[in-house]
Amino acid sequence: MLDRLSALTAGGKSAWNPGQLATMERLRDAALNDPYALNELRHLTGNIGPRLSGSPQAEQAVYYVAARMSALGAEVSLEKATVPHWVRGVETAEVISWPGQAQGTTQKVVLTALGGSVATPAEGLTAEVVVVNDWKQLAALPPGAVKGKILLLNHKFDKELAAVGDGGAAYEGAVVYRGAGPVTGARLGAAAVLVRSVGGADFRLPHTGETIYSDAVPIIPAAAVTAEDADLLSYLVSQGPVKLHLTLTPQTLPDASSYNVIADWKGTEHPEQVVIVSGHLDSWDLGTGAIDDGAGVVVSMQAIHLLSQLGIHPRRIVRFIAWMSEEEGSQGAAAYMADHKDDIANHISAIESDLGADHPSGIYYSGKPELAQWLQPVSGVLDSIGAETLAASTETGADIEDLSGKGVPGFAPVQDSRTYFNYHHTAADTFDKIDPRHLNENAAVMAVLAYALADSADPAPR
Ligand SMILES: [Zn+2]
Repeated sequence: MLDRLSALTAGGKSAWNPGQLATMERLRDAALNDPYALNELRHLTGNIGPRLSGSPQAEQAVYYVAARMSALGAEVSLEKATVPHWVRGVETAEVISWPGQAQGTTQKVVLTALGGSVATPAEGLTAEVVVVNDWKQLAALPPGAVKGKILLLNHKFDKELAAVGDGGAAYEGAVVYRGAGPVTGARLGAAAVLVRSVGGADFRLPHTGETIYSDAVPIIPAAAVTAEDADLLSYLVSQGPVKLHLTLTPQTLPDASSYNVIADWKGTEHPEQVVIVSGHLDSWDLGTGAIDDGAGVVVSMQAIHLLSQLGIHPRRIVRFIAWMSEEEGSQGAAAYMADHKDDIANHISAIESDLGADHPSGIYYSGKPELAQWLQPVSGVLDSIGAETLAASTETGADIEDLSGKGVPGFAPVQDSRTYFNYHHTAADTFDKIDPRHLNENAAVMAVLAYALADSADPAPR
């Protein structure tokens, strides 16, 4: 509060005059009461559905969003990105032998292929299961212990950490096993790698997600098992040999052509300067990509919609971007960086929303520490919706991190992440998980911040 007062009373030092602050309040209030973002999300998730890179739904979403943005009066362009085209297949597993087994029975293991996984033979593969809880236990195994086996990396997602509000840290702690597990297992001669699902789902739901292969080692099948099934396998393996039959039949098709959807709301004074407001349009295929990241796309669409509705024309361009293929390697963001490499200096700021749509408590910023003081007046406008905190962060979004790396200040709403990772990358990432009030609070943060960055007297400090 004192910081804010001193910023407001510092006279000419505020980047916004009272008229601009009043405009921010209008944007905030309009966002809270406008069903546009919710309706767009309902269409993206319910009518179009999951939007995996290279899929017909991703393509339809590109043209749909482009048409909607065009209808608002924004200048729309589709910028090409070459993206992976991976298609999920059959994914089943059964424990076929274990200590104490009733004769003639098997036990089902619920799992889902990791994005990009190669297939097992069509009839599946059968191998003994080796379970470790972390890299240290893996390194302590005798030589050859994993050779020809199915390796389960049973690293637990820290639900307590997520429950106290640090879902991002819980995710970071576990996702390394999903990313690096298959290469690590292959290096040790494993036939396949399973990872305990990275997330907090309690209802025997597997969480998919990207994995990373290397040309230096064999490429082996990789899947995520539910937390419940990881516990079962771990329990049985502690008693004696356990054999699993695993069938995965995903396909990697030739790379596909796709697009980032770009929609510019023209600037009045600095037509070359750009403020990005964005989310990623692609999603995993198990659910309908409501929280990840349909929500980020529609709250960004809402920023342009409100500028259009209220007839607001900031000094700089507000550039909406619906990024393509964040989930499978951020190929859309890489294409943008390549296409705009000579124009980075004109990128004044970039915002991305990619942590769901629960209540935002404020704004993450990545860049100069001065940004916190500079943004105090904006924080004041967001105080009434409980979104007044300003928190430094090293990363504000996977699609804008390369821009941040080149010195462009990056921003994101600080969404409440306590339940986000329960649904993230699962079949339960669906429209009903969205609280309309919270979605609109996120839209308010995006619209107010985008306007503030695009209309400030001087650009954001960098
Ligand atoms: Zn995402």
